[in-house]
Amino acid sequence: MPQNTRTKIIATIGPATASKEKLEQLIDAGVDAFRFNFSHGTHAEHKARFKLVRQLCKEKNVRISILADMQGPKLRVGEFKEKQVLLVKGAKFVLDMKNELGSVDRVTLPHPEIFKALKKNDVLLLNDGNIRLRVDECDKKHAVTTVLVGGYLSSHKGVNLPNIHLPISALTEKDKDDLAFALKLGVDWVCLSFVQKAEDVRLAKKLINGKAWIISKLEKPSAVKELEEIVSESDAVMVARGDLGVECPLPTVPVLQKKIVSVCRRYAKPVIVATQMLESMINAPTPTRAEVSDVAAAVYDGADTVMLSAETAVGQYPIEAVKMMHQTIQEVEKDPLFYHFMRSSRIRAEFISSDEADAISCAAGDMTSELKNVAAVITFTTSGATTLLTARERPDLPILAVTPDEEVANRMGIVWGVRGCVNKGVFKNFNNVETISRKIALETGIAKVGQYIVVTAGFPLLKGGKTNLLHIIKL
Ligand code: PGA
Ligand code: MN
Repeated sequence: MPQNTRTKIIATIGPATASKEKLEQLIDAGVDAFRFNFSHGTHAEHKARFKLVRQLCKEKNVRISILADMQGPKLRVGEFKEKQVLLVKGAKFVLDMKNELGSVDRVTLPHPEIFKALKKNDVLLLNDGNIRLRVDECDKKHAVTTVLVGGYLSSHKGVNLPNIHLPISALTEKDKDDLAFALKLGVDWVCLSFVQKAEDVRLAKKLINGKAWIISKLEKPSAVKELEEIVSESDAVMVARGDLGVECPLPTVPVLQKKIVSVCRRYAKPVIVATQMLESMINAPTPTRAEVSDVAAAVYDGADTVMLSAETAVGQYPIEAVKMMHQTIQEVEKDPLFYHFMRSSRIRAEFISSDEADAISCAAGDMTSELKNVAAVITFTTSGATTLLTARERPDLPILAVTPDEEVANRMGIVWGVRGCVNKGVFKNFNNVETISRKIALETGIAKVGQYIVVTAGFPLLKGGKTNLLHIIKL
């Protein structure tokens, strides 16, 4: 089974990979999770892809997570008369709310909330940050700007406003519609784009109501300012380097990446490093050396998951890109230094909140390295929480998330080192814990007779108790 690395791979599905044949090849190449990007594609297309993935998982007996990525409040300019206009440095350019096609002098910006928030001297970035405009004067309906950095601009190009907090929710009307659709399909994770504050996550949580887990995409400086609160409110986090690199100075992005990864680890929240990881493979069968190094660096940092976007959605070499990522992960994970880094970056319980759950999971982590001949960690979990705490220890062994709940097992595709496994037995009668652990360990082949397994659980099991049980079993 190619789903055999600790660090996981997400592939974004798009026209290049929507067929059953391509999806199967992606799974065989090592994909652990698929991202459905709701900025593109129709509901009918997403539904067909969803069904194919679930069907393939059954046929191939693998578990793959499915993520629905909401477009979020992506701001865009309106339409132009011409195909494109050239804005030159020093020229004046007006943004307004008129219902007219744009020209080299003005364009519609159909977002009243921007005009409400804009002040003189604010900077707007257009077209992935390639064009910079400075606000000279503005009111509730228009803004006169000076072009600081010029370039070509065309219809519907994106607008970023770094450092300006907009009074808009992370879920637009389109998102709410997409969200209802995705939840009805039964996706495992929902990604929230352009999260600005922890309150955005809390509101989404109310809407989602436990039907899926939430990934907050960190792509705004305001989110970075509230990092700890957002991480603690979210179920997982994505370092969304595409928009983050437009909103923040590019040289700060690698630093932010390391910071976000380390905060997520402290909070035991899965973290995804995303965007442009193997960008040149959109058009070429091999990546640049720098791209392979970037993937490896994220793995060495202890990210749970690395992600492919356009490479697999619209690229010419989607399967090759996943293979390249998978092989890079394998090479890093073979390196003894990798586990040395994982161990030396472990967070001791006393530096966290130090409750019984942290203490138990730290002790489980210790056992996996201090006791000789431990083969695996089995976590019994109803919510998944016990498993996430175990994954935080980054043990040099496979972790099994045994749960009565198919949905919880399906979410584990983006969690470092974890495989989901559905079993209802122990949840009916806790006295069975030892028998069932032995059975699962031998049946799945993760341990052999004579080896130890370490078991963690939150007792009472079905009530979703906090992790408070640690058990060693010799097979
Ligand atoms: P996107 O998000 O691909 O949906 O824009 C990821 C990013 O911005 O990096
Ligand atoms: Mn983005």
